[in-house]
Amino acid sequence: KADFAMYLAKESGKNNYKFYDDELNQKMKRKIMVETRLHKAIENGELAVHYQPQIDLSTSALAGAEALLRWENDLGYISPGEFIPIAEETGLIIPIGEWVIRQACRHSKEFRAHGLEPFPISVNISTKQIMNPSFIPRLKEILLDEQMTPELLTLEITESALLFYEDAKENIDELRQLGIGISIDDFGVGYSSLSMIKDIEMDELKIDQRFLNDALESKRVHSLLKTIIKIGKVLKAKVVVEGVETAEQLELLMSRGIYGQGFFYSRALPAQEFEKWYWKYYRKRIKS
Ligand code: C2E
Ligand code: MG
Ligand code: MG
Ligand code: MG
Repeated sequence: KADFAMYLAKESGKNNYKFYDDELNQKMKRKIMVETRLHKAIENGELAVHYQPQIDLSTSALAGAEALLRWENDLGYISPGEFIPIAEETGLIIPIGEWVIRQACRHSKEFRAHGLEPFPISVNISTKQIMNPSFIPRLKEILLDEQMTPELLTLEITESALLFYEDAKENIDELRQLGIGISIDDFGVGYSSLSMIKDIEMDELKIDQRFLNDALESKRVHSLLKTIIKIGKVLKAKVVVEGVETAEQLELLMSRGIYGQGFFYSRALPAQEFEKWYWKYYRKRIKS
């Protein structure tokens, strides 16, 4: 009997190993495939920048939009959660990141030409990008090329990105002197949040959606969320809460002089769709 149990354990161990091995192989294959495709994604025209509105919760006015990268090809839709880390690892994030900034500048000009009120566009920036010594010179070039008002561009950086970056403060200060807005993304879930915000001045603080997610069910999280909002206010930053999905969540956030972003208002939309959303939203606001 004992022998049989041993035999079973060995067999299942073997199977587990094999299963794990297969899974690892699948993951590796997928990663190599994604990486190979990513090299050609820009020139194949597979990438697109979509825009998600940010709303001033006191006035319901549009206050900005976040640029979010989308990638679709014959493999289907590939999420930024999957390809951004690969882009970072391979260095492809440098050309891709520059392309995103350029697109955002062009769309910003287009939106204004089509009569939308001017609003800042936020672009996500990876650690690899901001640590690159040519980041600021290249950014200046793009702004000049595209005749972009720096005040209409915000860069979203995560706290953890800044923590491991020696020249962070200097370069952030330089960017702010250019008129570019600095936003700390996913605030509250990175490393060493408080010591980072102690040293670096920012224009905007984006509270990670995990806080709002749990705020309705947990009094503790709700209080914590309110406290983080206060921290943002003390720092004189624009406070944006991510992941507003329901009217109940919105109610928690209203009349605090803050901003919200989430599926309740809209998902990220292609530039043209964003314009349509804008006019519909605008008309609805004027009527009510
Ligand atoms: P993030 O910057 O924190 O962006 C917010 C993410 O939350 C987006 O996911 C957005 O679609 C999603 N989101 C917005 N509202 C809601 C909501 O109400 N509920 C829920 N559940 N989710 C919501 P997405 O587009 O998949 O992007 C994921 C992450 O990928 C981004 O997180 C950002 O870190 C990164 N990313 C996206 N585009 C770029 C880019 O152009 N460059 C870089 N470096 N990173 C990017
Ligand atoms: Mg972001
Ligand atoms: Mg975020
Ligand atoms: Mg993020």
